[in-house]
Amino acid sequence: MRDAAHGEPAGDTIFAPAGGAGAAPICVIRISGPYSGNLLARLCRREPPPPRRAVLRRVRGADGEVVDHAVALWLPGPHTSTGEDMAELHVHGGRAVINAVSAALIDAGARPAEAGEFSRRAFLAGRMDLLEAEGMADLIAAETEAQRRQALRQMEGAQSAILDDWRTRMTRLLAWQETLIDFADEDLPRDVEAEMLADMALLRVDMSAQLAASEQGARLREGLVFAIVGAPNVGKSSLLNALARREAAIVSPVPGTTRDLIEVHIELGGVPVTLVDTAGLRESGDAIEMEGVRRARARAVSADLAVQIVDASAPAAAEPGMLCVANKCDLAPALPGLLAVSAKTGEGMDKLEAMLAERARALTGGLMHPLLNRARHVSALRDACHALEAAAAASLPELRAEELRLAMQALGRITGSVDVEAILDVVFGSFCIGK
Ligand code: GDP
Repeated sequence: MRDAAHGEPAGDTIFAPAGGAGAAPICVIRISGPYSGNLLARLCRREPPPPRRAVLRRVRGADGEVVDHAVALWLPGPHTSTGEDMAELHVHGGRAVINAVSAALIDAGARPAEAGEFSRRAFLAGRMDLLEAEGMADLIAAETEAQRRQALRQMEGAQSAILDDWRTRMTRLLAWQETLIDFADEDLPRDVEAEMLADMALLRVDMSAQLAASEQGARLREGLVFAIVGAPNVGKSSLLNALARREAAIVSPVPGTTRDLIEVHIELGGVPVTLVDTAGLRESGDAIEMEGVRRARARAVSADLAVQIVDASAPAAAEPGMLCVANKCDLAPALPGLLAVSAKTGEGMDKLEAMLAERARALTGGLMHPLLNRARHVSALRDACHALEAAAAASLPELRAEELRLAMQALGRITGSVDVEAILDVVFGSFCIGK
């Protein structure tokens, strides 16, 4: 397709309405690519405004009719989010307006962006690395305060900076190692190898600590599961509903059991938690119901925390490893040592909630900032740690170098920058071998 105004292909210029589903007063239509300026000029029938200045313009549809009055911005590259020339049209959010402007852009040769294409261009232009791009996606999807904070830190590059530091340290290690291999017979300082091994040990400590925190970070991103267990009629559903009402939660039945598992999504201590009511935990002769019970048990076992509810008026033995709570304390005093609550009167509910929030925080690393939080990151970091351990244990210098290279590659997978060539710069730049 050709840009009729300039006789040039505009196909690699993309656009997308940036906004959520449903009507909004304003919709920002983002345009990115070499013909952004031309497209803006064409839709507004005016030269683009001065860079980065918001101006009011009439926007015309494909047939030349004015479809809206919009705020227009001309953002020449390379200092834009994609690194390319960009433009923005802040139009009114009606579907008909967005459709008409989109049609005009397509008519002029632009094409609708694919999912994530703006971020992809930003990554390819070196404006952000993969971690930062993922942080941005997480920020958009963040539902709780803790998720928002974690995503923002990631988008701002806090994690990338730590990874860069590790990669620099690894590059140094590898450079030392290569030197030991290539110049074994030369007159090198005696302590090179010892120093390298000491540095490697320090790096291992740093990385394994972050691996542990990252496993917790993945939990925070995905949320925790707390199972509510106990005999029939102790008040599990009532407690769940009480917690849900206080948190304005969404209650959703999960099919698959005869008495459906009920799941409630709430926020406890800034952590997203799914409370699961394993209501049907009772023996039954019915094969299908028994399958339901088996699934409920499995859910309880795999949960991050199982909360056992007992009836204060008819206390049962506490299950090991579970947080035990005595309900119906309005009917009878609870046994000493048990948290006493009443789903009916609300007594003790604040304490229960605080206790659950405390557990949620503890399970997600007390909301300390985890370095990484996706399965993809955690598995790459684990690979890097393993390779580093293998390097430390390697008997041959060549093997050690190879393991270090693998560790660097694994780290590179996280930010999307696998660049083993960097090693050459260090070897020849800072080592003053004199050759
Ligand atoms: P579940 O089978 O464990 O889910 O128990 P339910 O939540 O269905 O409650 C069983 C019965 O106990 C219902 O009649 C509730 O109204 C009652 N119940 C639940 N919590 C309390 C409480 O704190 N005090 C009193 N007095 N009754 C309660």
